[in-house]
Amino acid sequence: MELLKTILERALAQKWSTGHFNVSESDHMRAVVEACREVGAPAMIGLSEGERAHLGVFEAVALRDAFRHEFSIPVFLNADHSKSVAAAKAALDAGFDSIHIDLSAKSLEENTAGTREVVLYARAKNPDVSVEGELGYLKGESRVLHEKITISRDDYTKPEEAKRFVSETRIDRLAIVVGNIHGISLEEPDLDIDRIREIRGIISQETALVLHAGSGIPDDQIKAAIVAGIANIHINTDLRVAYAAALRAELAAHRDEVAMYKLDAPAREAMKQIIKAKLTLFGSVERL
Ligand SMILES: [Zn+2]
Repeated sequence: MELLKTILERALAQKWSTGHFNVSESDHMRAVVEACREVGAPAMIGLSEGERAHLGVFEAVALRDAFRHEFSIPVFLNADHSKSVAAAKAALDAGFDSIHIDLSAKSLEENTAGTREVVLYARAKNPDVSVEGELGYLKGESRVLHEKITISRDDYTKPEEAKRFVSETRIDRLAIVVGNIHGISLEEPDLDIDRIREIRGIISQETALVLHAGSGIPDDQIKAAIVAGIANIHINTDLRVAYAAALRAELAAHRDEVAMYKLDAPAREAMKQIIKAKLTLFGSVERL
């Protein structure tokens, strides 16, 4: 199976982006893998600390192995937004392929030291594991936001800091803040494409750039971000919204039905359609 690292290198060189899709149920994992196989894209599945507490880290790893076996495509598990070194290590110990250590709320020094610790721990365990660090203050949460969130350019990732952070931590991927916020915001996001290009130009070519909070960003901005050097885009809220809406409609339409596998089948299908549309937007189709 091709390594995540070389897939990200291909994406950067050929100006497309891999998709990263969050899940909390085995059914969601199936939606991601089925969608990826249907369009010919690698599958990157993310679970935040809350999502992995719900599904279970060992269960997620066992399901990943089963999906690899059944679908014969690369399937990677990412421990998304691990807020502590301990949480990152626990996911590594369970067999995750990728870790996102997010200490961006801490000082630059603490962030650098903790991220470096996770990189060293991961390399010792399995040199193929990919580690993502984060710099900049990423606001919001993965839902439809009804309040206005203002982001100051002071919260954006600074190119010089990014360069130092990458060279000191030796991370494989860097998540940046360039006008993106988690969730679907009230106001249309306005990504700073020049800032992406600047960061891309100044950090090591071996480190991929990641854009979190891809839901709710207009298509033309996503495309420009990819051309500027983004190689991995996170989608969560769009999937949650589509899944929940389809499930609510089905529950309302069939009040006597109690077989959950019948009630949630349309929800899985709705999720798959969004994933396929995002992979098409990212240029990720037929990239295996
Ligand atoms: Zn995120």
